[in-house]
Amino acid sequence: MSERPHIVILGSGFGGLYAAKHLKNAAARVTIIDRRNFHLFQPLLYQVATAALNPSDIAYPIRSILRHQKNTNVILGDAAGVDPDRKVVKLTDGEIAYDYLVVATGATHSYFNHQQWAPNAPGLKTIEDALEIRRRVLLAFEMAERETDPAAQKAWLTFVIVGAGPTGVELAGALSEIARQTMVRDFRNINPSSARVILLEGKDRVLPPYPPDLSEKAAKQLRELGVEVITSATVTNIDDQSVTMGETTIPTRTVLWAAGVQASPIAKSLGAPLDRAGRVMVNDDLSLPNHPEVFVVGDVATLKTPVPGVAPAAIQEGTHAAKNIQRLMRGQATRPFHYFDKGSLATIGRAAAVADFGKLHVSGFLAWFSWLAVHIFFLIGFRNRVLVILQWAWAYVTFQRGARLITDRQ
Ligand SMILES: Cc1cc2nc3c(=O)[nH]c(=O)nc-3n(C[C@H](O)[C@H](O)[C@H](O)COP(=O)(O)OP(=O)(O)OC[C@H]3O[C@@H](n4cnc5c(N)ncnc54)[C@H](O)[C@@H]3O)c2cc1C
Repeated sequence: MSERPHIVILGSGFGGLYAAKHLKNAAARVTIIDRRNFHLFQPLLYQVATAALNPSDIAYPIRSILRHQKNTNVILGDAAGVDPDRKVVKLTDGEIAYDYLVVATGATHSYFNHQQWAPNAPGLKTIEDALEIRRRVLLAFEMAERETDPAAQKAWLTFVIVGAGPTGVELAGALSEIARQTMVRDFRNINPSSARVILLEGKDRVLPPYPPDLSEKAAKQLRELGVEVITSATVTNIDDQSVTMGETTIPTRTVLWAAGVQASPIAKSLGAPLDRAGRVMVNDDLSLPNHPEVFVVGDVATLKTPVPGVAPAAIQEGTHAAKNIQRLMRGQATRPFHYFDKGSLATIGRAAAVADFGKLHVSGFLAWFSWLAVHIFFLIGFRNRVLVILQWAWAYVTFQRGARLITDRQ
């Protein structure tokens, strides 16, 4: 009897994990590889970065998630590339052969050819990024408290966020709330509520992918929270003392990057055409051109009809790739992928959010409540759901953020 086919899944984010789950009953050996031992719920990363949640509230061990899936093996490993001709995944410490492959290694932030800005403007993609942002933000208030020079103090109390997509908007709203509500009575020499939170956007409105009326409502809600919104602003330099836009320089000690996105470098090794963001241009069934046994899903892939880089798209694509692999195993033809858009939600702050459900546009408390419900629903792990509900309820009543720890002062 021939051995069962080997399906390898690279990445256990939304795309990879949902592909693995869908292969639960497949007559195959499934191996899922990730450089982390946990699945990370990225949509709530900003809450770790702004001290509202702890890292373990939004991450869950992959082994635990797939504990009952007997055909699936979990490997902690770092992929260096794929050789589609030899059908192997190259790890930094070995190789793994496959019959079918799902590549779901996601994306990271892009500094648009200004990589030198990275040390002074961290982006938000990993737990480490979130903890680094938390450290910088909390430390800025501490440094301002001890600073005697008013101009230097002002720079410590100025926070600039570059990029007004959903992540930039979430960060700006949360930072403003920290300054005006959480920290307001905790210092003696500074008034935290005098902190400036400045949100810069290169396009002419915040939340550019959303309909203009919701962008307007989001900008209004941000301003009500005390955020200074500057649109059509192109950043020309960032250093450890300031952000510059052409002739204008803003003195600041804390810059956060929420602008560009770049696909995982694994994409290059697949040898297929890439788009400008480095994403693999896949066939309409999500397979790699000339390699029907390889599927590429989530943020590392792009289709002729573009699909947004969001969790539901990665989940749907991961599930679809798993279905197509099972069809191939049965000798059937694959099916094209169609994205089912359930709408988009962006939160801004306490009872402030916008929601785009196609013809229905919602803002304010209702949108915010929908955002809470959706994020709790998709959060993996019963313990995480309970803890997050409790912490959100506590924060709502007390305005406090329980994870205000500076763990590394360098
Ligand atoms: C801060 C932030 C907020 C977001 N907010 C929202 C939101 O509110 N709503 C929404 O729908 N979407 C949101 N998104 C987008 C959403 O998280 C992504 O679209 C989604 O995670 C994409 O899933 P994926 O499986 O393609 O990649 P990911 O979820 O990024 O998973 C990729 C996995 O691959 C692993 N990996 C990468 N490279 C390697 C390698 N070389 N070797 C081994 N393993 C590797 C990574 O460790 C990771 O586990 C947000 C993203 C961020 C960063």
